[in-house]
Amino acid sequence: MGSIELLEELVGFPTVSAAPNFALIDFVRDYLTGLGATVEVMPNAERSKANLFATLGPTDRAGVLLAGHSDVVPAEGQNWSGDPFALRRKDDRLYGRGTADMKGFLASVLNAAELASKTPLATPLHIAFSYDEEIGCVGVRPMLERLARRDFHPRACFIGEPTSMKLALGHKGKMAARATCCGVAAHSALAPTGLNAIHLACDFIAALRTRQNDIAAHGHRDEAYDVPYSTIHVGTIRGGTVLNIVPTRATLDFEIRTLAQDDEAAILSAIEADAERLAAAHRAAHPEAAIDIEKLNAYPGLDVAADAEIVAFMRTILDEPELTRIAFGTEGGLYTRELGIPVIVCGPGSMDQGHKADEFVTTRQIELCDDMLARLVGRLAED
Ligand SMILES: [Zn+2]
Repeated sequence: MGSIELLEELVGFPTVSAAPNFALIDFVRDYLTGLGATVEVMPNAERSKANLFATLGPTDRAGVLLAGHSDVVPAEGQNWSGDPFALRRKDDRLYGRGTADMKGFLASVLNAAELASKTPLATPLHIAFSYDEEIGCVGVRPMLERLARRDFHPRACFIGEPTSMKLALGHKGKMAARATCCGVAAHSALAPTGLNAIHLACDFIAALRTRQNDIAAHGHRDEAYDVPYSTIHVGTIRGGTVLNIVPTRATLDFEIRTLAQDDEAAILSAIEADAERLAAAHRAAHPEAAIDIEKLNAYPGLDVAADAEIVAFMRTILDEPELTRIAFGTEGGLYTRELGIPVIVCGPGSMDQGHKADEFVTTRQIELCDDMLARLVGRLAED
């Protein structure tokens, strides 16, 4: 099977993040076992999904890791011109959910595994497929905990998220949080006698916007990003029940996306101090006044120096790669943080097509990725 046939198989498994991924993982396990790889399937506690870690070549030393996620975003509610989970080819485009993000890369990895199985490798090739990446890089974490306990860690990790085969040296980190604003109920005719939780939420949002303006004006900058500073954004707000009751609850979800130079925990601490100051101002009259902040999820950013060894290595397997930074997050920062290994992001297809109806990858992008991985296998045979 070549990469395109493998992609057809992988797209056929509807591995949206909410659904089990065992059918895909079983397929990959059988395929890699058939090639002589050492394959470990690591199910989650509920045994509904699993990570997969495989090694081709010697198992007594560190190798190079190709990593990606097996889950895809849903196609529901999107206007597809055909079945999202059946690969369709039109001219040089391969349409289907996950073709760009990121089963195109997984297919190319499986194709390279066949080449690796026929090549005597001095350095092993590792493969890691995770689950639940799309809901905040959640599924990879237990696999990283297990890998971190081993005697040696991979020497380097390539994450094949879609970069149009450019070398991505970094992306921002992200933290999601929920603020619950607590007020005091009253009849709306007597509104000033209560404490309006929605008004409190508005004051909190104003504080977030002041922080954002301050970061934009005085914080760190990295001009390689479209938005060259860390950002704070409110995504949802809910509050109140009916018009004639002063609302007691308002909740809002917000996120902080940070440059590598900024510490999201420090920004969150400053926001928590703002929240406490705003609530404390009402406590004399209303002891219940509070703005409680709960951290929902976070993953670290990624920042690789242009003169890093991994970049020099990539130049030996890619023809004059363009260096870039990406707007979306990856599992890469977690690999670096948990295993202390260098990570680079490079894969076929573009996120311009990811997560949309009629997602596609071009056959040319798959070929370029196949070429890169073939050269990588060649390098692993040498040293
Ligand atoms: Zn992805």
